[in-house]
Amino acid sequence: MTVLTYLEHADGTVDEPSLQAATLARSLAGDGAAHAMVASNRLLQRLDGAAPVDTVHVAVHDAFASYAPRAVAEAIAELAGTLGATVVAGPGTERGNEVLAHVGALLDLPLAVNCVAVTGGDVTRVRWGGSLLEQAHVEEPTLLLTAQPHALTAEAGAEAAVETFTPALSAAALALRVVERVGTSTGGVSLDDAKVVVSGGRGAGSAEGFASLEELAGLLGAAVGCSRAVTMAGWRPHTDQVGQTGTKISPELYIACGISGATQHMAGCKGAKRILAINADREAPILQSADYAVIGDLHEIVPAISAAIRAARSG
Ligand SMILES: Cc1cc2nc3c(=O)[nH]c(=O)nc-3n(C[C@H](O)[C@H](O)[C@H](O)COP(=O)(O)OP(=O)(O)OC[C@H]3O[C@@H](n4cnc5c(N)ncnc54)[C@H](O)[C@@H]3O)c2cc1C
Repeated sequence: MTVLTYLEHADGTVDEPSLQAATLARSLAGDGAAHAMVASNRLLQRLDGAAPVDTVHVAVHDAFASYAPRAVAEAIAELAGTLGATVVAGPGTERGNEVLAHVGALLDLPLAVNCVAVTGGDVTRVRWGGSLLEQAHVEEPTLLLTAQPHALTAEAGAEAAVETFTPALSAAALALRVVERVGTSTGGVSLDDAKVVVSGGRGAGSAEGFASLEELAGLLGAAVGCSRAVTMAGWRPHTDQVGQTGTKISPELYIACGISGATQHMAGCKGAKRILAINADREAPILQSADYAVIGDLHEIVPAISAAIRAARSG
């Protein structure tokens, strides 16, 4: 069987989740050919991060100067048709899932995201932020899937042949692309890398209610995060959201202020070494996961912690 894997890359360096997806796809190829595709706005002679594939196809187009999910999907769909691929795979990253979802729409195929094992049309995949594994069967002649990042080890491949093609893209493909990047509101400390994250939920009450959380974060050199209730209310941007549909973090300390601890939120912070919950409700679900808890009004407790830190530092 012929398999095709979409590889994400930064300037020709393929990322680990893509190599893992290529490894999963390779295991399905049997004696067939394993192909991969990268999208670039310039010719690439070679890729760093050897994927376990026979041939890497570089789709070259100006549209790929920035992230353009529909354009990448059109290139994948075109190449899959040319190769007669019966498995089309990609990394189960935010972008990988988005691109492959576009491929599914273009080819009218279902997409199995975040797979950890595949045998024939039987897939095992991660659901609900990692809280359960689902087994499903895909009936279609072409299996479209993404591989759950870091669920399997990427195999190294030999140097693959590199071929270049220019995909025929529709006007619609060119309309959907990143045109501008703005900095996050976390004052330079990235949620991904922060050792401490001070996060607020609906209990913060308003956008202004985050002032005391920002102050505490500043004292601790922490990033500010939030729950989806907060982003839905428009109090903070989506880039600050922690959870299943936000950023997944693993700080040394996660300070959750006015956050109930819904499964979808905990999916994003369960990698934290320690959780301090500040909540008015001693029955809040987050207390089951918390290492420390302070029960009370965050608008009193958070400023009191900041004041205590200042006093300790000046003393
Ligand atoms: C498909 C899907 C994906 C989702 N993805 C995410 C996600 O990525 N991230 C996410 O966060 N959610 C996500 N959700 C939403 C999630 O289910 C919850 O609705 C959300 O996390 C609740 O946010 P919250 O804890 O801020 O609000 P609430 O659940 O309303 O909790 C507010 C908490 O604040 C406490 N509180 C109130 N006032 C104070 C005060 N003055 N001082 C101290 N404590 C106070 C309350 O006791 C309560 O525990 C998703 C939902 C779905 C269906």
